[in-house]
Amino acid sequence: MRNFTNSKRIAIKIGTNTLSKDGGVDSTFIRSLASQVAELAKSGREIVIITSGAIGMGASQLKISEAITGIQMRQACAAVGQPLLMSEYKKAFDKFDLTCAQVLLTAEVLNNRQTYLNLKNAIETLLKLGVVPVLNENDCVATDEIGTAFGDNDKLSALVASKLDADVLLILSDIDALYDKDPRKFDDAKAVKVVFEITPQIQKSAGSKGSTFATGGMKTKIEAAKIAANAGCRIILADGKIKNVITKIIAGEDIGTVFMPKRKLDNRSRWLLNSAAAGTITIDDGAVEAIKKKKSLLPKGIKSISGSFSPGDVVMINNVAKAVSNFSSEELKQIAGKHSSEIKNILGGGKKDVVAIPENIVFLDY
Ligand code: GLU
Repeated sequence: MRNFTNSKRIAIKIGTNTLSKDGGVDSTFIRSLASQVAELAKSGREIVIITSGAIGMGASQLKISEAITGIQMRQACAAVGQPLLMSEYKKAFDKFDLTCAQVLLTAEVLNNRQTYLNLKNAIETLLKLGVVPVLNENDCVATDEIGTAFGDNDKLSALVASKLDADVLLILSDIDALYDKDPRKFDDAKAVKVVFEITPQIQKSAGSKGSTFATGGMKTKIEAAKIAANAGCRIILADGKIKNVITKIIAGEDIGTVFMPKRKLDNRSRWLLNSAAAGTITIDDGAVEAIKKKKSLLPKGIKSISGSFSPGDVVMINNVAKAVSNFSSEELKQIAGKHSSEIKNILGGGKKDVVAIPENIVFLDY
């Protein structure tokens, strides 16, 4: 569980509070991070960093101390803070002869298969060049309203770790572990060392957000762990302020909580699972059983359609699976409940004869 000898690709997510000190950036922390990353790189590992802190650094530069709730203000602060943040990374990495690269992304980039492949190729190239990619959300262009935002870097880091086939994801923040009960309320709360399965109870008991500038909390970390669990990637939650925390964890020290992976889905299934759904297809129990047995989804089993989508879009199937639909929402409304042989008569020729093939259907849980 704690043997990371064969973990070659390591993603490290750094939370805002871990990076900051007295309202500004904690240069000592970033220097220590660079030194630990340099050690790992020397031992042949590939490191990808997912950093928060742009909004916090921008706010501190602009002398804003209260919580920033407005989107425009968060975006302005991120725009001011991102170059400051990168210059801190550059300064620290220079000391260890390491080159770092800034990569900014939005949820849209990862959702779209083509842009996701472009991003993956770029990061693979950087890694081959021995460069350490430092990723953050492109907060300036991403907003929840238009569905381009991840919402928090915990989720972003898990998606990135999953899509880049990372072996381990370290989430370093002020949340040092998962506890069996709320440690702020119960003195006898105990840290959970290993989680084999993220049960509904664990999900329910996860609290909410952390601090003024950070968006994450235990809830988003559990969501992140679920994403990584489907990618065969181990996640470790740990207190980022522990001295040499990365080196210690990779050496196998019993720090924080490790979430064990559940299944290793292939790349395409992971992309499908983590893509935002454009609508929902509600199907009957018989059709659910059929697709569970790796059969295609047929129009016969469809009860209703919601949302507006095009052929090739990702949709939810009830609330149990995601699929790529061969038909648009309008077409599906016309063929719902009908036999496949009727598709041609209703929609004309040149259409597929199933709604989704098994390769394009993934269950959220299994
Ligand atoms: N992207 C945000 C920033 O750099 C952080 C989001 C988060 O805290 O998860 O400030």
